[in-house]
Amino acid sequence: MKLDFSKTLPTPLYFVDRDENTLYIKRDDLYPFSFGGNKARKGLNFYKEFKAKKADFLVTYGSTSSNHARIIANIAASSDVPCIIISPEEVKKETFNKKIIEGFGAKFVFVPVNRVASKIEELLSELREDGYTPYFIEGGGHGNIGTESYRNCYDEIKAFEAENNMKFDYIFHATGTGTTQAGLVSGKLMSEDDTKIIGISIARNSKRGRPVVIKSTRDYLSSQFTDKEIDDAVIFEDRYTAGGYGSEAGCVEATIDYVMEKYGIPLDRTYTAKAWHGMTEYIDEKEIKGKNILFIHTGGAPLYFDYIMEKNKETGK
Ligand SMILES: *Cc1c(COP(=O)(O)O)cnc(C)c1O
Repeated sequence: MKLDFSKTLPTPLYFVDRDENTLYIKRDDLYPFSFGGNKARKGLNFYKEFKAKKADFLVTYGSTSSNHARIIANIAASSDVPCIIISPEEVKKETFNKKIIEGFGAKFVFVPVNRVASKIEELLSELREDGYTPYFIEGGGHGNIGTESYRNCYDEIKAFEAENNMKFDYIFHATGTGTTQAGLVSGKLMSEDDTKIIGISIARNSKRGRPVVIKSTRDYLSSQFTDKEIDDAVIFEDRYTAGGYGSEAGCVEATIDYVMEKYGIPLDRTYTAKAWHGMTEYIDEKEIKGKNILFIHTGGAPLYFDYIMEKNKETGK
């Protein structure tokens, strides 16, 4: 197997700053494949099943700015198999991820968002008729394999705690399709930790997003834990979405500029800057003091450059 990342080191976890709390960061954006991020961690786990099933065609769902689509297109190119990304035609934006994906030779198929499910079925049966064995990965790397990937990430965090003789009181991260959070929550429940895992929603409201995280956690853990235990462990904050998916809110952009300048850490407008901003607001509002806080950087490096390009266009630099 060419793409075997089972023996890579844990992603870097280090101290960032101390004010009323002590802040650490886990740089999953430095996961060592295709600009890293949670989609790389998940995607390479899906790749194992793709290989095990002897599939020869990769199909997934994602927008033109999707980090997940970039990772899957890169995996396909690396293993020399064709790749199709079903994409909602509503968000046909020129982005760095789109250029990178096309560079790998993957093909976008644009459909109206309400026809996505039927298009996927149609395409998969066409490919089977043509003699291929297609492997479909849900948008965002959803499913138990995605959840498992972040259970593994949680284990890396546990190992850091053990080595440094400390505990994290809070873990903050951006939550979207939900398996990043489900994996972390599963890890926490399995190790009986009282660390609070706070998913900062990047788009979905709690009514829509939280049940998805709960279901993913339940699917992964089967019947090891009660509904109440899972319910109590899923903290889904929808107050910091700043206008949804590709936000251009001032607080989000100011966060990108600040964190890059102060710590040299690139964030983006869709995911990580919202999570960072949400984290600081949450800490202020709840008057959290004297705690160990961990921010998980879930990746999205190309989106940082989308932001920089657009910002420079506006200011004429
Ligand atoms: C997809 C993504 C998320 C959200 O992860 P989910 O597992 O879908 O909840 C967060 N950050 C970045 C950079 C992402 O690409």
